[in-house]
Amino acid sequence: MEKLRPSQMKSPDFLMVVPRFLLRFTPVSHKSASRSMRNLYRNGLIFAVFLLLLLAKTAFAQKLSPLAPTPNWSDLDPYQRTITRDDFLHLLNSVYAPEGSWRQTIEVKGDVALIHKTTSPVTVYRLEFAPDAASARSVPRYWTPAGAKAENPDKPLAGYTIALDPGHIGGRWARMEERWFQIGDAKPVMEGEMTLTTARILADRLTALGARVEMVRNSTEPVTSQRPSDLRKVAAAELAKSHITKVRDSYNGPNDPLKFNSITWQSELLFYRVSEIRRRAELVNSKLRPDLTICLHYNAEEWGNPNQPTLTDKNHMHLLVNGNYGPGELMEDDIRHEMLLKLLNRSAREELPLSASVAAALSHATGLPAYQYFNGKARSTSASPYVWTRNLMASRLYRCPVVYCEPYVMNSKEVFDRVQMGDYSGTRQINGVARKSIFREYADAVADGVAEYFSQHQPRSVSR
Ligand SMILES: [Zn+2]
Repeated sequence: MEKLRPSQMKSPDFLMVVPRFLLRFTPVSHKSASRSMRNLYRNGLIFAVFLLLLLAKTAFAQKLSPLAPTPNWSDLDPYQRTITRDDFLHLLNSVYAPEGSWRQTIEVKGDVALIHKTTSPVTVYRLEFAPDAASARSVPRYWTPAGAKAENPDKPLAGYTIALDPGHIGGRWARMEERWFQIGDAKPVMEGEMTLTTARILADRLTALGARVEMVRNSTEPVTSQRPSDLRKVAAAELAKSHITKVRDSYNGPNDPLKFNSITWQSELLFYRVSEIRRRAELVNSKLRPDLTICLHYNAEEWGNPNQPTLTDKNHMHLLVNGNYGPGELMEDDIRHEMLLKLLNRSAREELPLSASVAAALSHATGLPAYQYFNGKARSTSASPYVWTRNLMASRLYRCPVVYCEPYVMNSKEVFDRVQMGDYSGTRQINGVARKSIFREYADAVADGVAEYFSQHQPRSVSR
């Protein structure tokens, strides 16, 4: 596995030049005073040029989200003339950047899109549209959509690789990632453990359906090699960016109301939320290269103090498809670049109907109602009342179709009781109904939904 690039350095080439530059022109020893003056004058001039260069470089600086590498815009080259103007606008307006949020950073003019590579000053990438659907070049992508491989009714997933991404880390990291709560001496509820248990069951189900399954994480340890202590400088820089003045070194546990202002809490967040997900994306995009990635999560309502959590009667489910980028997000050069890759490789064409199929199976198995967003972070879709578009880092960075599941509220009374029951085979009575273990109910339903979608998309050309 390759190491992470030093992505947080916005102009690494330039910073590397400085010490050598100064070294070369620093006088060593001079006997004559006039020679010293000449050297002083020369060094002054060089320093002025250096300052000018610094200013010029800063003006062209990339605007990047935390730990993002500088975008490589030639990634878009293979997509020249692969999409019509109508399809491009339709995907922007219906999935990725609704309500015109793209208009500040993308100009659609005639048969080209002028995509801003940087925003101050504006530099552009020119994407040419295909004149019509018939003459559009084929979309380059390493993954294969459903229906393109040989028919086998018993093994609808034969020939496909599916990556399973159990959300979060769990284990000794669960408290840090704030995915842990406990009531008295009861078994702690840890999302990272629950998603891994579910993923292992799902792996067996998908393998039985013919898929080759890869686990993005298969233990309760991080995939990234970075740790919070490696990210303290970046954390301090992020705090400075958000204009937080009363920056503290550390914080007093999960209930500290001012934890957000501390370098320790921010460096932990960068570790488990940003570095970890970026590393998983590298693994998915460069090594596993699946036809589909399934991200498994359990949802929660606000539980407050993790040692005295609030339990709720609310229980619901939803699935997320990458999209609904806001204008602020699109001002970040890396996010804009990633959105365009997602749009151009046509992930959404698979993600929307596939997520709807998985949602139908999950709702049938769980009986849970659809979650509703009221905060604008997500937008409802016409694919299914359970399927929403939202710009999450994992669904954005994985360059293949992603099904992102958020069923069950972990701190609902019913789910809490079911987590205490653990995993079991067969069924047990829960509120008078025979139910599978929560992990098997979840995994079986996802496998059913995926199998149903792939079965419907068997190639018609094969006669059987
Ligand atoms: Zn989660």
